[in-house]
Amino acid sequence: MKTWEEMEKVQPLASRIITNSIQKDRISHAYLIQGARGTGKREIAQLLAKGLFCEQKTGIEPCNACNMCKRIDSRNHPDVHWIEPEGQSIKIEQVRRLQKEFTYSGLESDQKVYIIQSAELLTLNAANRILKFLEEPNKKTTAIMLTENSQAIIATIRSRCQVIDLQPLSPTLFYEILVESGVSEGNAVFMRALTNDLNEATRLLSDDWFAEARKLVVQLVEMFAINPDDVYLFIHRHWLAHFKDREQHEQGLDLLLLAFRDVLYFHIGNEAAIVCFQAGDERLERLAMHFSQEQLAIILQQLLQAKRSIKQNVHPTLVMEQLTLQIQR
Ligand SMILES: [Zn+2]
Repeated sequence: MKTWEEMEKVQPLASRIITNSIQKDRISHAYLIQGARGTGKREIAQLLAKGLFCEQKTGIEPCNACNMCKRIDSRNHPDVHWIEPEGQSIKIEQVRRLQKEFTYSGLESDQKVYIIQSAELLTLNAANRILKFLEEPNKKTTAIMLTENSQAIIATIRSRCQVIDLQPLSPTLFYEILVESGVSEGNAVFMRALTNDLNEATRLLSDDWFAEARKLVVQLVEMFAINPDDVYLFIHRHWLAHFKDREQHEQGLDLLLLAFRDVLYFHIGNEAAIVCFQAGDERLERLAMHFSQEQLAIILQQLLQAKRSIKQNVHPTLVMEQLTLQIQR
């Protein structure tokens, strides 16, 4: 999505609000752009920055070819600063570094843009520092904050920004985009259930780690039904060896959710919604005989609880052991 025309197909309302302000030369000094992964937050920030710096705009559209556009794309533009979390948060030192940079004058003009990714991860100190920055709006400075959850951002910052809400990509649109880009229909159905970020989907589909993860998940679900006594060993030998950091554990649990949900869908005859198994897969019948609908509903709850525990930094070994006990019960 490198033009407003393309962006408008995915985010019509947000595109109209922003392009209107570009046309009227009334760009806000601070934006807070909220949307799920893959909805175009970064692309909108880049389009906004190009709107301010591109040397060969056609109307509101950036040329995507001039030196300015290219430097913005490669994140090498000296007056467009990106801040992203270092570790689990965005720290005050990062904001201090940015503000120091801003005391130098710009390359061609005094125009400056800073883009904060995952702004919900600003520490309170860092957020307060940003707030002071926003309170003395310099006409030539544009802040663009990107977040998946604007409620996690302090209200005093929110109230000083123009808040732009992005719509989630519709699963149908996402499925079409995937198939058009050469993904098989089966994989597109699977990916549509997992994400609505095209980059993420293509990355996962070509990732050996992920392919192995998909296999382990199906193996584990089957093992619960067929060899429940071996599950504990399987978790220690294979699962914990494969899923290592917190993000991987969350992904593993997401996949388990999909696989157990497939069994539930099989029960209720909604085979079109099955994603991890193939429709008509004999294994589903066996699994459906083992797990009742009531059990499956409880297991899905337990998986969500396990995901919350991982998010809260409970040790993954503990989470998986507890989950195993719960499902075996
Ligand atoms: Zn340009």
